[in-house]
Amino acid sequence: MSWQLSPHIADILKKGAAFEGIRRDEALDLLALPLHGRETYALMQTADQMSRERFGSKGENHFHIGVNVAPCPLNCSFCSLTIKAGIFTQSMEFSEAQLLSWARQAEASGADALNLMTTGNFSFERLLEIGRLLGRSVTTTLVANTRDIDHKEGESLLAAGFVGAYHAVRLGEGRDTPFKPERRIQTIRVFKEVGLQWMNCVEPVGPEHRHEEIVDLMLLARTHGATYSGIMRRINFPGSPMSSHGMISELEMARMVAVSRLVMGDVPRAHCTHEPHSASLMAGANLFFPEVGASPRDGQPDTGKGRGQDFVRCHALQREMGWNPDLPSNCFAPGRQAGVR
Ligand code: SF4
Repeated sequence: MSWQLSPHIADILKKGAAFEGIRRDEALDLLALPLHGRETYALMQTADQMSRERFGSKGENHFHIGVNVAPCPLNCSFCSLTIKAGIFTQSMEFSEAQLLSWARQAEASGADALNLMTTGNFSFERLLEIGRLLGRSVTTTLVANTRDIDHKEGESLLAAGFVGAYHAVRLGEGRDTPFKPERRIQTIRVFKEVGLQWMNCVEPVGPEHRHEEIVDLMLLARTHGATYSGIMRRINFPGSPMSSHGMISELEMARMVAVSRLVMGDVPRAHCTHEPHSASLMAGANLFFPEVGASPRDGQPDTGKGRGQDFVRCHALQREMGWNPDLPSNCFAPGRQAGVR
């Protein structure tokens, strides 16, 4: 076994560590590294060092609240909230009392943001009402996660108190979903143009995805200036039509988290991974999503009673890996955390 890194890989890591952002072909070379090899660990160490340098030791936690459960007619293949999955046959919105209780619990737990997720067929007006309600009740930053929008709707989100929106061009967009990638990108442009921050993740990664399509989405996040953009793997819910493909492991996810960190260079204010796990916390990730309510990965209507992990668990994982959830968020502070950048 060689104890040396190949000069080519060492050069890419050096360029990455300088926050220059790496090229597509360089990212592809990193993604092809053997999983248990010395170079993969050097890659993960480089990404970890970059995040600790830029984000201090802040561990971010953005609380996912799935506002409604529905048999969504848009039928994305990786989602449990679809008609074709047959898990949820009735539409249901969590009560305002429940949403308020979750939001207050998140605020008390030091959440850095509330991510309000709706299914693709949920009323946009109702999301605005919920945003206004939570905005009056808690001080935590609001982020929307909903369908494609136009400029007028983007301005409505801002007026309702949302600071940003999560939106992804998903892997297999247009193949495993009925949406056109161009329309998703148009929505991302809308966010920028109206002054909403854009949050992203390369998702939902499965073993069937080619490295080229994964890297292209990493580059999209850098090009459009995502506040964060890490990696989420696809979870095969019971009966998922994607089950035959299997799932990637946490270690494979950590390697991708690291590549994505080098691609993002100087752009992000945090680096995410989902679902919460340790390996990516030593590969550049510092942002988790504790979750309750509806989840496209779960067969339970409230993922807080299913797969979803809570603040106690997320904080514990972060502390074990040297990330401090009690520090102020870097994602939304105007001047970012003092002493960080
Ligand atoms: S991912 Fe969103 S739009 Fe697609 S089926 Fe699930 S809820 Fe509907």
